[in-house]
Amino acid sequence: MSRLTMNPRSALHALKPYGQGTVEVESLLSYFCRLAVSHSVSTLTLSRSIAQRFSREISPDYDWHERKISGCGDSALTWSAALSALTSVEGLDRLTFLPWSEAIAQNGLSLVSKGQFCPDCLADDVTHGRTPYFRLAWESAEVSVCTKHGNRLSQRCSCCQRENIRHSAAYVVPGWCTHCGEFLGQKPELVTTEAIDAAALWKARQVGELLAFQFTLNDVPRRSDMLLCIKELITEMDGGQSSAFARRIGIAKSTIHHWFKDNGTPTLSVTLKIAAHCGVGLTDLLTGNLNKWTAPTIERQQVLLLQHPTAAWHPTPRTIDWNEIEKQLQTFLLLPTPISVLEAARRLNLEARQLYLRANRTTRQLGERWKTYLSRRYAATVVRAWPYLESACREIWSEGKTVTRREIVARVPADILSPVAHLLDVLKEVQTHLHNVGCIETAIPATSA
Ligand SMILES: [Zn+2]
Ligand SMILES: [Zn+2]
Repeated sequence: MSRLTMNPRSALHALKPYGQGTVEVESLLSYFCRLAVSHSVSTLTLSRSIAQRFSREISPDYDWHERKISGCGDSALTWSAALSALTSVEGLDRLTFLPWSEAIAQNGLSLVSKGQFCPDCLADDVTHGRTPYFRLAWESAEVSVCTKHGNRLSQRCSCCQRENIRHSAAYVVPGWCTHCGEFLGQKPELVTTEAIDAAALWKARQVGELLAFQFTLNDVPRRSDMLLCIKELITEMDGGQSSAFARRIGIAKSTIHHWFKDNGTPTLSVTLKIAAHCGVGLTDLLTGNLNKWTAPTIERQQVLLLQHPTAAWHPTPRTIDWNEIEKQLQTFLLLPTPISVLEAARRLNLEARQLYLRANRTTRQLGERWKTYLSRRYAATVVRAWPYLESACREIWSEGKTVTRREIVARVPADILSPVAHLLDVLKEVQTHLHNVGCIETAIPATSA
């Protein structure tokens, strides 16, 4: 068997995520912490080494716990892809809210800043012989109770009474207080007798169902489908009058206008309100599925069949045929001159991060092949600077300019560039390479400026 057809060894332990396909699915943040524990390194060390490996996308100065790595934004995509690449565990984006990135406004998905947890769930983990872990549902600010145990989620260690005990330390072992080291699966001595609000329980159930459902998704649910669904609800519930619907939900009319005219996307909190007022499940609403829905009869009003105005939809997200992509990647593996994962992604009109998440093994093979090729040919400093130089060259060409030392210095961080010896020769090689791999621009010899 040739080296190429083997599965390259993963750089980090291939831990299996907990609770996939259930309401108890693990969060990416928890997975990351368990990974650090499994390698006996601090979370800071692990985040630094990931940053180093993916230096173009993660700055080592970032506080990893400040990044919303379990959310639905760009850092969730970067971190899940980086961890998939390093552990060889595919699909780690499903430990985040990313599957809903089209249907939930990125800045409208509030995540809790201080970690919250259910002590009974952590105690259950130990009872069942699992490593305690943080659930993804606990990340959402819309979730304040555990649907399994009917508890209010806790933010405090019952022993030392401190808050923010989840990730304020260099070593985080999910389930134990980072301050006093006590197990968090213990009930506080003074159990609050405060009754759990039915609305809070309903919201937690809705988010839980959403997270269980996302494991089965092949494509990201589309914003346009969800908005069509909302439009139908407005028609059915309020005769097509947005202002009446806005009043019903308790939002400004301009907010609805913003969704349909300015490509706005509802926040999770508003989507939950719509779901509650219209009697439709959150998952059905976000996937645009009203098949099972009938308007609540008491509130049903005369339905006006209005012509729907044409809304300015987002472009339809591309449906990706991953079998086809896999075939293409296989052909890339056989190219006489290896190409980088970034280059492969560029040719497929995808992001490298998507390749790591959905075509993990072949993508890592490509990455290994590229790395071996580079390190055989060039010194480590050049290997490190290479991706920066490639993207700088592309950028310079796209601006119609010639690659000069000055243009490069303006684009590549000094700590990357200064160790590179014979920069102009290296630049020539980078450009020749880009030319050979079919980068559309013509390679222009570097000149000093
Ligand atoms: Zn619980
Ligand atoms: Zn404590």
